[in-house]
This record gives sequence, C-alpha cells and structure tokens, in this order.
Amino acid sequence: MSTETIDLDEFRKEVRAWLAANLKRRRSSAPQAARTETKTPEEIAESRALQRKLFDAGYAGISFPREYGGRGLSAAHERVFREESAAYVMPDFGAAGAVTFSAIARSMLAHASPSFLRRHMPKILSGEEIWCQFYSEPAAGSDLAGIRTRATRDGDRWIINGAKIWSTGAHYADFAMCLARTDWEVPKHRGLTWFAVSTKAEGLTIRPIVQIDGEAGFCQEFLDDVVVSSDEVIGEVNQGWAVAQTMLVYERGAGQVGPVVLEPRTLAPDLVALARKARRTDDSIVRQSIARAHINDYAQYHLGRRIAARLRASDQPQPAVAAYGKLASGTFSPIRARIAVEIGGPEALLWHPGDQRAMRYSINYLNGRMTSIAAGTNEMQRNGIGERVLGLPREPSFDSRRPFSEVIAKARNWDGQVG
Ligand SMILES: Cc1cc2nc3c(=O)[nH]c(=O)nc-3n(C[C@H](O)[C@H](O)[C@H](O)COP(=O)(O)OP(=O)(O)OC[C@H]3O[C@@H](n4cnc5c(N)ncnc54)[C@H](O)[C@@H]3O)c2cc1C
Repeated sequence: MSTETIDLDEFRKEVRAWLAANLKRRRSSAPQAARTETKTPEEIAESRALQRKLFDAGYAGISFPREYGGRGLSAAHERVFREESAAYVMPDFGAAGAVTFSAIARSMLAHASPSFLRRHMPKILSGEEIWCQFYSEPAAGSDLAGIRTRATRDGDRWIINGAKIWSTGAHYADFAMCLARTDWEVPKHRGLTWFAVSTKAEGLTIRPIVQIDGEAGFCQEFLDDVVVSSDEVIGEVNQGWAVAQTMLVYERGAGQVGPVVLEPRTLAPDLVALARKARRTDDSIVRQSIARAHINDYAQYHLGRRIAARLRASDQPQPAVAAYGKLASGTFSPIRARIAVEIGGPEALLWHPGDQRAMRYSINYLNGRMTSIAAGTNEMQRNGIGERVLGLPREPSFDSRRPFSEVIAKARNWDGQVG
C-alpha cells in the first residue's frame, strides 16, 4: 500500500506499536527549563543515533517529500506522531535542532533547488547534519535587511567576509544558513543571498558567548574569506529576503515540529505544585497569580491554534499573522516566569547542584526575555502588526529605497530627512 493513503487512525496504531517496541519512555512530563542549552558531544552523538533510528523507520520528516528522504504524508500525520511520541525519549539537539527541523528545513523546501535538497535534506532528516542560523550581526538585528556581511562572486564560487552574532548552537552545528549581501547597488532588501556554510570551513571562527545563566548557548562568528560553492546558494541570488520571510514565519511558530504544547486543561500544574511546596496554597495573592498564569496559558494555546490554522490555509508566508503568536509568547513567557519566582520565593531560587527540576524556575526567570527578543523583538512584532494588519502609517525610513552602498556612505551624516 502507498504510504500516502494511510488514514490517521491506522497511522496512530502503527506509531504507537513502533514507539512501544523501539523507544524508552520519558520519566517525567514536567516542563523543561527554557534554556539556550549547551549540548555535550556525547548528548549530540546519542541524539544522532536516535534520529537515525526514526529516519530508518520512516518517522523523520513525516510530511517531507519522499524524494528528499521524507515520508510524503500530511501535517496531520506529523501531529499524530508528535502527540504519541510526547511520552518517549526523543532526539534532543537543543535549540539548534529545533530550528534545523522547522525553520531551516521548511525554508529550504520552499526555496532551495532540487539538487541542493537531494544533497542535504536526507542528511538533515537522519541527524547527520545539524544546522544553525547566521543572520544577526553586531550592527543588524531588528534591521535584518541592513546586514553587512559581504559575499563576492569568484567564478563558480563565492567568497564571504563579515561577522555574525547570537547564532544559537553554532558550536555544535555542522552547517549554517548564512545571509550575506551580494549586491550593494540596490535597496537593502534586494541584494541579499543565503548560503550553506560548513561550520568546519577554513576562515570561519566560532566563539561561544557565556550568558547570564552560565550556559554558552549561542556564539559570535568571524568569516574571513570563507569559500562557498555556487551549488550551496539557498534560493535565488539577490532574492534572499523572500527566504528570510519564510524562515521568520516558521521561526515565529508556524507549523512547529517542536514539543507539543498541551492544552491547559488543568490549572497550571507546575505552579500549583510549587505553591504546595512553598506551603502557600491558601494565600489569595498566590491563588490569583496561578489563575492569571492559567488564563494566559489558555489564551496562548488557542491563539496558537488559530494562527497555525490561518498560516496553513495560506500558500504565502504571512509574517504579520505569525507575529501575533510570537508577540503572545514574548509577552506571556516572562510574566509566567516571574509568577513562578514570586510564588516559590526561596523554593524557586535555591536548589541542590544538578537538580534540573528544581532549578528551572530560576533559569526560566533569567531567560524570560529570550522569547521577547529571539526571532524578532516584541516591538518589531508590534510594528509588523500595526503596519501590515492594522494599516497604520509605516515607520519613517531614509534607507529602504536607496542603494545600500549610498545608505552606508550617507548614514554618518544623516540630517533626519526621510525619503
Ligand atoms: C535566545 C536568542 C537566540 C537567538 N538566536 C539567533 C540565531 O540563532 N541566529 C541569529 O542570527 N540571531 C539569533 N538571535 C538574535 C536575534 O534575532 C536578535 O537579537 C533580534 O533580532 C534583535 O536584534 P538586536 O539584538 O540586534 O537588537 P536591536 O535590533 O539593536 O534592538 C534593540 C532594541 O531596540 C528596539 N528596536 C529596534 N528597532 C526598532 C524599531 N524599528 N521600532 C521599535 N523598536 C525597535 C528593539 O525592539 C530592542 O528593544 C537570537 C537572540 C536570542 C535572544
């Protein structure tokens, strides 16, 4: 029977049987701390072996085309697998893994050439290639189209020079999807191109950055004459902005392949457990805070579902629609993290060394701002919603219509005039 005809119930049965026979059950269903995570080489090796097992059994890239190593089934089949596998130990490549299998792989499917996809996608799905993203730069984050890393054509190869920063998981990734400027004589959004850069490439230096929680989850990179073959261009030369739009939509939560967000049927169980531990379940302020967290969980869950449905129904990337989900997560996550610390007091702030469960409240608090910055800040989501959904006037800009080389030359002496 062709795999495309498997109905969902039959597929669920098949998945259940395979999981029970082949994978280990997870010990706890408690939410993990929101970390940018430093993965050890041993952890990565274990995850690669597990990913290979899924790939060989047809459970990696369930909704990816068969010609690129996937199974060619629907997004609904993918969801069934996620629901059933939530109770099992799955490959965990940290944040770089999450981005590899969602934003990166999906953007490649939408924009890369068939030969590129045949070369890389089976390796991605089998865990052989973990990817990271080189887009932000020291002087270009929110203004992504203002990047200055330069790629210069040299026959059938490109030479890349520049600096990138905040690249999650670059120190253990195998490849990076790197945005560079390939034409300086057109307005800033038009001269951009994406390249596949091996993290082992000569001329590439990767330096981990230590964060407030003591982890070094992301890195800074220096590219000095890094050579990339023309075959490794992702999408069309100078059309990189279209690829960026697709990638940011996936990164902001569309079609997530990450952990399942369970419907909040019960009152914030982690916070109730914490209140019990702190002996504060009778405290009316604590009870109110738990209710607030529950309302936010509920709103975020249903908003996420509506947005995902809107995005799935559209053929085009819809960054402004995805912005609502991103803004909700960037707003609610820090609030929830603060509520936990307020409820728990010392119980949330102290732990025995290595006690991952006990430390998660503090880590979540320290990392609470991650979701309001990564993949576009809350302010940028508000700008997008204001301009593209509500029809408010666009932000004044002096640089979006001029050649980028002129923008750079004139920026230092800008007199505040727009246009
Ligand atoms: C956990 C984490 C993981 C990340 N992972 C990656 C990664 O893997 N790869 C990668 O390339 N990058 C990554 N980033 C970088 C991220 O994309 C940038 O930090 C983000 O886009 C903001 O850019 P910036 O830090 O340069 O801040 P800036 O753009 O300098 O912004 C500074 C402040 O000004 C505000 N601001 C800027 N412009 C406007 C405007 N037009 N209107 C209103 N307010 C504005 C911003 O909202 C912000 O509050 C990561 C960041 C985090 C926190």
